[in-house]
This record gives sequence, C-alpha cells and structure tokens, in this order.
Amino acid sequence: LFVSGKTGQYSDFEDYIFGTYVRMKISSRVNPSTIAKAIFAEMKRLEKKFDPYDKASVLYKLNHSEDWVEVDDETLSVIDLALKIARDTEGAFDPALGRLIDLWGFSKFTERQANGIFNIPSASEIAEAASKSGYQKVAIDYVNKKIRTNGAWIDLGGMLKGYALKRAYQIAKEFDKSCHGFIETGGQIMILGPKYNRTKWVIGVRDPRGQPGENIDIVYLSEGSVATSGDYERFFIVDNVRYHHILDPRTGYPANKAVSATVISNDPVIADAFSTAAFVLGEDRWLFTRTVFPKYGAEVLLVTPKKQLLRTDNFKIYEIADR
Ligand code: ADP
Ligand code: MG
Ligand code: MG
Repeated sequence: LFVSGKTGQYSDFEDYIFGTYVRMKISSRVNPSTIAKAIFAEMKRLEKKFDPYDKASVLYKLNHSEDWVEVDDETLSVIDLALKIARDTEGAFDPALGRLIDLWGFSKFTERQANGIFNIPSASEIAEAASKSGYQKVAIDYVNKKIRTNGAWIDLGGMLKGYALKRAYQIAKEFDKSCHGFIETGGQIMILGPKYNRTKWVIGVRDPRGQPGENIDIVYLSEGSVATSGDYERFFIVDNVRYHHILDPRTGYPANKAVSATVISNDPVIADAFSTAAFVLGEDRWLFTRTVFPKYGAEVLLVTPKKQLLRTDNFKIYEIADR
C-alpha cells in the first residue's frame, strides 16, 4: 500500500516497530510530535506485551503453561476477539498457529534471511506441530478471567498491527478530535482524517508481482483502514516454490490460492485479520469470502494466482475518487 499526492502541510514521523517501519503524517492543533510520541510508545508497549518470544510477555506465559493462566482485561478481550474472528472465518484466520509459525521460522525471518538459512520443515514435523495447533484448543474462563491454551501457541501476528492502529487512532483523537492524516505500518494504513480535512487519501494497492510503486488498483479513503496481506512480504524461494509467512491452518503449509488480499474496513482490527483470512481462503473459497466478509464490515479485493482481480460488491465504492 502506498499513499500518493502532496502532503506538505503534514508533520512526518517514523519509528521501527513490529519488525517494520511505522510512518505517520499528522496535522493537529496539539503539537504533532506529542501525539506521535504517545502513539509510538503505545505501539511498543503492545509489541512487547504480545511478543511470544519475550519471556516477560503474556503470550510466553500462556504458551508455556499447561494450566489456566489469569490474564488482564486487555489480553482477555484481544484473544476473545481473535477467537471470534477465527470462528467467523471458519478457521482461515487462526491465532493459535504459533508452533507452525515457529517451525517455519517466519517469526525471526529477517535474522534467518540475513544468514541465508531457509529451512523447509519435514512433512512429519509439520503434521506434529499442526496436531498441537488451532484456535479450538484455546479455552477462556470469562468469570475468572483465565485462558488455557492446551498445548497450542498463540501468535497474534495476523491482527496485532491492526489492534495497535486502533489504539493509535484512539490516542490521536484523545489529544485532538479534529487531527487528521494517517498512520502506516508495512501493509496497513489507518486514516486519522481526510487530507487537508477535506479530500480523500489516494492509496495505491501494490501489484503483488510488480516493483514497489507499481499499482494493481487505487482506492480513495477519508476514514477507516486498509490492509493488504501478500506472499511477497516475507518469503523465500527454494526450487521455484515460494514459501511465505501466511499459513493455511488446514495444511500447515503456506496458503497458495491467492497472491494478495486487501481489505477495507472502518475497524483496523477487522481489516488486518480479515485480509489474512481472505488470503488463506483464496480463489477456491471466494464465494464464502464474498458473501460473508461484508457482514463483518470487511470489503475485499483478492488477487488470484493468475492475477485475476476479484472484488466484493461494495469494494468498488472505494475505487471512485469523488464523493
Ligand atoms: P503482515 O504480517 O504483513 O501484516 P498479516 O497481517 O497477514 O501480514 O499477518 C501475517 C502473520 O500472521 C504471520 O507472520 C503470522 O505471525 C500470522 N499468521 C500466519 N498465518 C496465519 C493465519 N492463517 N491466521 C492468523 N495468523 C496467521
Ligand atoms: Mg493480517
Ligand atoms: Mg497485518
């Protein structure tokens, strides 16, 4: 995703969080750098809190405990929402694939890539990790605010940036209800308000097989969020096969029925999680995506392996420049 056009009036900020650059353009009566600082601090808090490899994190605790674990309200509601989205997408979005993600090595991908280590797990390793994975293993005790993973490892990588963007929006609006601009975290954009407070932002959806800046579509947004999940962000190629970081929960292998999925939603968590799910469902299950996703406020653009563009009925509304 790429925002185009002149943005001279906006203050620019950038930080490195969630293994990617988080960029922000903001215009406000309140000092923009005060807002940016608060947002980056919040995002770093979430990155740490939900990092399954950080021994102090709540996910580490959940994933390495065989018993019920008491959790705080935020953790309870985020995991509850993740499980709900898993059910709504018939398990295409699955927040309990941590063992498989770890096995494939995509969680520490940049480090591995730098070392040229591309390790394809064996079929039996995959079957073993898959048998211990899946959202249906995770149980919530709402009365006592406890969660039990029953051997599965929770990984919120498919929706955490969306949640962080939701918090970022809330923080910006607490400082100044009329602030505007946008926040971008590799592959997802959250609009804070229309450009120069009047016009829509122009956002290019990247051609999944083109260079950065080559667009396959353009969308116009004055509010809400847009997220793209693609097989070109984190991948390696061995013997002409592309292995990437979005896994099909049914097979344990990278999903291969799409090359990118873009979701527009007012809710950035929906945009993030449902774009991952639409990618997994791919062209084979497009009928399901097309009929069900809009009910949850997700409009989808799917690019199939043959580069066909499939859109939900209302996605087209966002392709029209003028209101
Ligand atoms: P990005 O990381 O570029 O934002 P996504 O939002 O699609 O892309 O999230 C991909 C991440 O989600 C993976 O790195 C992994 O941590 C996790 N993940 C992989 N497969 C799934 C899946 N089927 N459901 C939910 N999360 C997944
Ligand atoms: Mg996602
Ligand atoms: Mg994402």
